[in-house]
Amino acid sequence: MTLISVVFCSNAQTEKIKNGHFVISYDKDIEEYALASARILNFVWERLDEFGFKPPKKVVFNLVKSERNRLFAHKNKPIITLEYTSLDPSKVPANFAYGLCHEMGHIGMFHITPNKNNWMSLYYREGWADIFGENITVLLYEKFGIYAWPNPYNYLERMAIYTNMRTQAFEKGDDVSASYISDFFWKKLIEEKGMDKMPFFFRQIKSNRVRNPDADKKIRAELVKFGVTDDLLEYFDQNKQHLIYYPDNKYDR
Ligand SMILES: [Zn+2]
Repeated sequence: MTLISVVFCSNAQTEKIKNGHFVISYDKDIEEYALASARILNFVWERLDEFGFKPPKKVVFNLVKSERNRLFAHKNKPIITLEYTSLDPSKVPANFAYGLCHEMGHIGMFHITPNKNNWMSLYYREGWADIFGENITVLLYEKFGIYAWPNPYNYLERMAIYTNMRTQAFEKGDDVSASYISDFFWKKLIEEKGMDKMPFFFRQIKSNRVRNPDADKKIRAELVKFGVTDDLLEYFDQNKQHLIYYPDNKYDR
C-alpha cells in the first residue's frame, strides 16, 4: 500500500509546461533546472531562426531522472531528452549548457536534411552538432555568463577542455580520431562560409537528392557549388570515409 502511494505521488509530481517553443516535462522538485533549460533552449532556437534554419515551431524536451547521464536528440522528431543522475555540474562531468546547444544543432540540421537517409555518417552529424554547439555556447556565455544554469559554472571553460585537446592533437600531428576529423571539417566549413549560409547548404543537399550510391561524389559536388576553398576540398577528399556512410565500410552510422 505504501509503495503504491509513493509511486502515485511520484507520478503526480511530474510537470509539463510550455515555454516559448518548448514543451518541457520534469519532476516538480527540479523546476529551476527545467526553467533554466527552457531559457537556454529558447536562446538557441532564436539563433537557429536568425541564421535561417527555420527550426520546428514546437520542440519537446524531457528531463528524466535516471541511473545514467545521457543527453540526446531524437533522430527523426524534434524531441530532446536529458537523462540525469544529478543536475549539479560539480557532481557530474556533464556540460549541460553546451550539451543543449549541441542537441539543438542536431534539431536544426535534421529539420532540413533528415537523418533518415542512407549516406550521413555518425561523424558527419556529430561533427556538425559539436561545432554548432561550440559556436552557440560562446554566444550563450556572452549573454548569461556563468549564470545560465542554476548552479553557476563556467561551461565555456569546461567546453574548452575538449576543444583544446582537439587543437593540440592536430598541432602535434597525432593520428587524430574520426570525431576530431569531422569536427575540423565543420569548423573549417563554417569559418569559410559563415553559419548563416549553412541552411542554404543543407537545403541544397536535400533538393539535389544527395544519397548513396556515390553520396561522396554528390556531397563533393555540393561543396564545389557552395564555393569552398581548394584546401577544404582536399581535406574532404582525404577524410570523406569519416563523413559519408559507405554501405560496405566498417564505420558506424
Ligand atoms: Zn550529438
